[in-house]
This record gives sequence, C-alpha cells and structure tokens, in this order.
Amino acid sequence: MRKISKIGVLTSGGDAPGMNPCIRAVVRTALYNGLEVVGIRQGYKGLIDNDMYEMDRRSVSNILNLGGTILKTARCLPFKTDEGMEQAYQHAKARGIDALVVIGGDGTFTGALRFSRKYPDIAVMGVPGTIDNDLCGSTYTLGFDTATNTVIQAIDKIRDTADAHDRLFFIEVMGRDSGAIALRAGISCGAEAILLPERATAIDDLIANLKEGHMNKKSSSIVIVAEGDKNGGVYGVAKAVQQEVKNYDIKVTILGHLQRGGAPSSFDRILGSRLGFAAVNALIAGESQKMVGLQANHILMTDLEAALNQHEFKLEEDLLQMMDILSI
Ligand code: ATP
Repeated sequence: MRKISKIGVLTSGGDAPGMNPCIRAVVRTALYNGLEVVGIRQGYKGLIDNDMYEMDRRSVSNILNLGGTILKTARCLPFKTDEGMEQAYQHAKARGIDALVVIGGDGTFTGALRFSRKYPDIAVMGVPGTIDNDLCGSTYTLGFDTATNTVIQAIDKIRDTADAHDRLFFIEVMGRDSGAIALRAGISCGAEAILLPERATAIDDLIANLKEGHMNKKSSSIVIVAEGDKNGGVYGVAKAVQQEVKNYDIKVTILGHLQRGGAPSSFDRILGSRLGFAAVNALIAGESQKMVGLQANHILMTDLEAALNQHEFKLEEDLLQMMDILSI
C-alpha cells in the first residue's frame, strides 16, 4: 500500500466560504497522524512558482469563521501545459510532497486528474469547494450554502423596496453554467420567475406570467436571472420585458462578488471540517484520484473522473417542478 508522509494542500479556482475550515481540518488531521503539511499559495501557481510553506497547528488558528482562503487562490493557465506541470512536479518532489489535497471545482479537479495520471507517485484527493454546487458525487459543495444565504439576505432587502414602490426587480446571481444558487434562492425568496442556464425560458411566457401577476394584484415582483441564462443577460431580459409590461417600473440589480464573501455558515464549517478530515484519512488509507463528498449525510468517495461527469449532474427535479407552482 502507498505510504505517505507529507501532504501539500491548495485552494484553486473561485474562492468559496468553507475553504478555511477545510484547510484547518486537513492540517490538524494530518499532524495528528504524524504527517507533515505544506501550504501551497495561490493554487497550482504556488506549485509552479515554488511558493509554499510548512504549516503547523497554529498556522490554522482562528480561521474557521473567515470567508475566502488563507492560502489564496488563482486561475493558473501554465498548469495546463506539460512544462508547467513538470515544474510543479519538480517543486513538489523537492519539498518531499507525496500527496496533495486540492480544494476547488471542476477545473481544479481536471488539473489534479491530469497531474496525477502523469505523475502517479503523488497521490491526489479532491475536495469539492465551489459555490456553484455542480459536481457529481457530493450533494453539496463547500460555499454553496453560505453563498445562497448571502443571496437570500440581499434579495429580502430588495423585496422591501420593490414592495414599497410597486417595482419589478430583475436580479442577476452567480452561476455561468449552474443554476443551483438561482434555484434555491428563488424558491427561498418567493421569486416570480427563475431563469436558469439549464432550462430555456421563453420571454413571451415570462411576460405573460408577469402580466397575470399584475392582474392578480401582485404589487411587486422579483425575477432571478442566473448569469448563464441564455436570453442575453439580465439587462437584455429586463429590456425585453419592459417593452411589453408598461405598468411596472423595472430595475436591475447584479449582486456580483458579494455572493462569494462572508463568514461560512454553520453548514459549510461542518462540511469543510468533515471533508478535510476525510480527505487526509483517505490519503493515509492509500487512495488517490478520488474526491470526498457528501452523500445522504455520509462522506463517501467518488472517482475524480466520475465527479467531473457533467452530463450526469442535474438540478433537483422536485425543486424545478415546485418552483413554478409556488410562485403563482
Ligand atoms: P470554480 O468552479 O469556482 O470556477 P474551478 O476549480 O472550476 O472553480 P477553474 O478556474 O476552472 O476553477 O480551474 C482552476 C484551475 O485549475 C485553473 O486555473 C488551472 O490552473 C487548473 N485547470 C483547469 N483546467 C485544467 C486542465 N484542463 N488541465 C490542467 N489544469 C487545469
């Protein structure tokens, strides 16, 4: 069985609340088991640039409540090249790293899988850390719960002013390829309509629904548009609707990066701790090229390749069915 002695940990891709509790769990679980830990700064960039440091128990003190990631993150294009990977490998070997915990989303896992197939003497374990909640093999990804709660708080405030002025608000939320935040936030806030990348919404139907709502004496309305909706973005949708729905004053709000920040929710702190703990234990047990994830409240492993299978990833069907009925 593969025996490891030094784990490198990195966060990569978009930052997500819950990454810090996960780093803390990785460091403390590894040290508890007699392993050494190296923190790699800015994702794969830190491996290529040799920007790493030894971590001890105190280097992860007081970070459970912090959003973002103490290791920083980056999008690193050189890691996609053979030369970049070779440099990363040489630096990891020189440090004595024989296993990596990579916390990130689908891009991060694609890189980890390629790296580990090229250099199988370094084991890799993925932790799903992305607000997009778009990976197979984990019902929830780190950061999704916090980000959704942040969106809900913002929309509740917008609803107050929408109601006071009889306004129709179009709110753009994050999700270029995933409508997970839009769907849950929309249901939680009683949005009149939710436009998702996964599902085409006919503008004519949207207009008809909004007109009907107005006739039924709805005084305000919220329409949530995920970034990746195919109708030309939130401004395009709002403009098309304004031309047909004259009785509403239409406003557009783009929530933007505030959705990524903030203290992780209790759920994300626990999830990050569980996943970090499980990732180190899986590496100690000799596993590699896997992702640890939450399934039916158990932490289970999935092959990285299967976790990346986007064709199998789907939004919850029951929520999709429910959203149209509850919004009327
Ligand atoms: P998020 O879901 O929050 O966007 P992500 O992990 O999908 O997170 P990406 O920017 O897609 O974020 O990927 C993070 C990093 O993973 C990239 O900057 C790059 O260093 C590495 N990566 C992505 N795709 C590949 C690939 N095909 N080969 C090697 N490395 C890759």
